Amino acid sequence: QKFVYDFTEGNKDLKDLLGGKGANLAEMTNLGLPVPPGFTITTEACKVYLESGSEPSALRDEVSAHLDALETKMGKKLGQADDPLLVSVRSGAKFSMPGMMDTVLNIGLSDASVAGLAAQAGDERFAWDSYRRLIQMFGKTVLGVDGDLFEEALENAKQAKGVRTDVDLDAADLRTLVDEFKAVVAKEAGRDFPQDPREQMDLAVRAVFDSWNGERAKLYRRQERIPGDLGTAVNICSMVFGNLGPDSGTGVAFTRDPASGQQGVYGDYLQNAQGEDVVAGIRNTVPLADLAGIDQPSYDELMRIMETLENHYKDLCDIEFTIERGKLWMLQTRVGKRTAAAAFRIATQLVDQGLIDEAEALQRVNGAQLAQLMFPRFDVSAKAELLGRGIAASPGAAVGKAVFDSYTAVKWSRSGEKVILIRRETNPDDLNGMIAAEGILTSRGGKTSHAAVVARGMGKTCVCGAEDLEVDTKRRCLTAPGGVVIEEGDVISVDGSTGKVYVGEVPVVPSPVVEYFEGRMHAGADDADELVKAVHRVMAYADRVRRLRVRANADNAEDAARARRFGAQGIGLCRTEHMFLGERREMVERLILADTDAVRDEALKALLPLQQRDFVDLFESMDGLPVTVRLLDPPLHEFLPDITDLSVRVALAESRKEPHENDLRLLQAVHRLHEQNPMLGLRGVRLGLVIPGLFTMQVRAIAEAAAERLAAGGDPRAEIMIPLVGTVQELELVREEADKVITDVEAEHGVELKLAIGTMIELPRAALTAGQIAEAAQFFSFGTNDLTQTVWGFSRDDVEASFFTAYLEKGIFGVSPFETIDRDGVGSLVALAAKAGRATRPDLKLGVCGEHGGDPESVHFFHEVGLDYVSCSPFRIPVARLEAGRAAS
Ligand code: PEP
Ligand code: MG
Repeated sequence: QKFVYDFTEGNKDLKDLLGGKGANLAEMTNLGLPVPPGFTITTEACKVYLESGSEPSALRDEVSAHLDALETKMGKKLGQADDPLLVSVRSGAKFSMPGMMDTVLNIGLSDASVAGLAAQAGDERFAWDSYRRLIQMFGKTVLGVDGDLFEEALENAKQAKGVRTDVDLDAADLRTLVDEFKAVVAKEAGRDFPQDPREQMDLAVRAVFDSWNGERAKLYRRQERIPGDLGTAVNICSMVFGNLGPDSGTGVAFTRDPASGQQGVYGDYLQNAQGEDVVAGIRNTVPLADLAGIDQPSYDELMRIMETLENHYKDLCDIEFTIERGKLWMLQTRVGKRTAAAAFRIATQLVDQGLIDEAEALQRVNGAQLAQLMFPRFDVSAKAELLGRGIAASPGAAVGKAVFDSYTAVKWSRSGEKVILIRRETNPDDLNGMIAAEGILTSRGGKTSHAAVVARGMGKTCVCGAEDLEVDTKRRCLTAPGGVVIEEGDVISVDGSTGKVYVGEVPVVPSPVVEYFEGRMHAGADDADELVKAVHRVMAYADRVRRLRVRANADNAEDAARARRFGAQGIGLCRTEHMFLGERREMVERLILADTDAVRDEALKALLPLQQRDFVDLFESMDGLPVTVRLLDPPLHEFLPDITDLSVRVALAESRKEPHENDLRLLQAVHRLHEQNPMLGLRGVRLGLVIPGLFTMQVRAIAEAAAERLAAGGDPRAEIMIPLVGTVQELELVREEADKVITDVEAEHGVELKLAIGTMIELPRAALTAGQIAEAAQFFSFGTNDLTQTVWGFSRDDVEASFFTAYLEKGIFGVSPFETIDRDGVGSLVALAAKAGRATRPDLKLGVCGEHGGDPESVHFFHEVGLDYVSCSPFRIPVARLEAGRAAS
């Protein structure tokens, strides 16, 4: 096994082995670009070290051989006293983990070689400055010395001299500082700063290995779902210097604008500086275009290289470069991060340039980016006073009055106010307030904090961890660093897509992408937004290649119409219980509580025409497309009066000696039907089987509505779906009755209705006996909400607010299984049931209608297991279409 690769030996496809940075340095080297020579120690070496606690035995000799070769190439030896070769030691994992791991520059400097560097560079100050930087970085990252101690010493030196920046310290000052830094190391690390250059290098390599398991890195990996066992590579690269005078400098560049995707010259340059100076913001950078005036030949060369890189990677690249005394060097490149809008624009631009094809373009964007583009946004042209910023935890643009506790949030929102709930951090007690609020702002916690997790689950705007904002819940105010104070009732605006928080009301504009999907903006129009044109094209690619059809979960004509505009190919789930919320709730209540046949029949008779009307509307708005109507599935607690409220009402009436006959009877009935676990109780098919006439009423309403649409010249395609089936016997009983009703209606109207009858698969037993159930079902629709609830034994109504934050923080899962399908558990049951069902009935139609139907990663899974369609809420349809296309291409 080979543990070390020269830059000339690797290539960009070896990211697993060489890390992203190493692979790309090798690629650039092989493209003939000016990369300072060096070599990469593989992630395999790191893995051996992390597993066994020591470097692989062959590593030392391999490093020696590569170092020899490097020294020969450079014509000088590492740390050579009169002309030292210096190297940087940089981490570089497969996935970019910005700032999470360690880097040490200027390895090879020592008391002996610092004078040699000064002589070679003709610059004594530069040599001492490089040496003090080495001791500082090495002390901090390799020897674990508190970095503040070096900063303090530097600060003291500047104060003693009465200067503001470190550029004002001369060689003698820096030389003194080096002595002080060495003393800090000796005291804090209990050892001297190593003078042997090879020892410096070996220790730095080991520190980079160790940094893989640093706390910051571990947390980042868990959040980004990067596996913990990949390890990092280590790049050893000969140093070039941007701080050797005005003809030197350092910069970053993008081959196109990462915000808009536009081609042009984007980047920053800092004359006479090293990379860290740019990041640290010590001096102001100039726009990259200004480099043309500073050093035209280097600028021209950089432009040529950027073009080469873009054509080679066929994508936006970002670049770090250094100019050393007029000579340009490439220090890093990678395919660059970009905004959601830029991702779509770049993908189509590259197609137009002939660099990628449509299938590749689909891989360059994703559903999460599309979803981001669909949120309303703050009007950026409006003037807005920035209050502070935190982590963009859940996208959206929310405006409301500041409130500092859940109680006030609920109270104010009940009286029609829009509120923003501000907390230091949230906990499950804040849940009601979060539901009531337009948006949530916290000063503590990261992407997996309670606030972030719950807000994302609710689709509610959230900014968390705005550390600069001081939240005082007792005094009910928020203080910004500038001294601005927001009191309860003051209006603020929270941008969950950028993490920015503004004073006052920033106007909100609808997203042009939604305007486009709604049909209010046409991609073909001359003045159409570039983004809309790009989205239009990418959606067309996706629709062309996808195999999965996309349907909507919708229970009213308005949602159905929107769904259709958004590209739905039918309704995959019409939850009929939703048709009985609001005013009609009492009718269902009456039905459920009926204690005589007469009362029950009365209730059913009242419901029938209402249902029929609903279905006619629905079939009309989805004319020609399938509409899956699910028979009533109300967990009883959602439809009955709250037992506590009712008890209080009865007790009050009793004490006041007021009449309360009805309430008392209701209370007794509610007691009789009260369940400890309503989600596992009398719902779905069970309810249909114990309340005679309920399902037949619904089936009749569906059949009559279909007949009515046929008579009107329409093309209704209704499918009847039975919920919560656990055994084929349940389904057979319901079918027998339903078939009878349908035959009757057909005879009455003299038509053939072609109604399909199928079932949901949402209980483990249904999945495990899917082969039998398929005997009685023409289709399956996986109800992955209930299936997740019952496979995990997680109450879908409770767990996300109670212990999921802890589970996410502990890395038990990276995302809630209610959000993204748990492939290994719930997913295996889906795959198994799909297979067994089709074995019984080869033309069995398969779909999914749980929340997962609109989740990007889950859509890929449903594609893989061969479902025919996914069904999701109307707003997620474009995302599902896109991801179905990506899955198929
Ligand atoms: C499901 O359980 O996944 C489903 C779609 O049904 P509901 O969410 O209505 O229980
Ligand atoms: Mg369900």
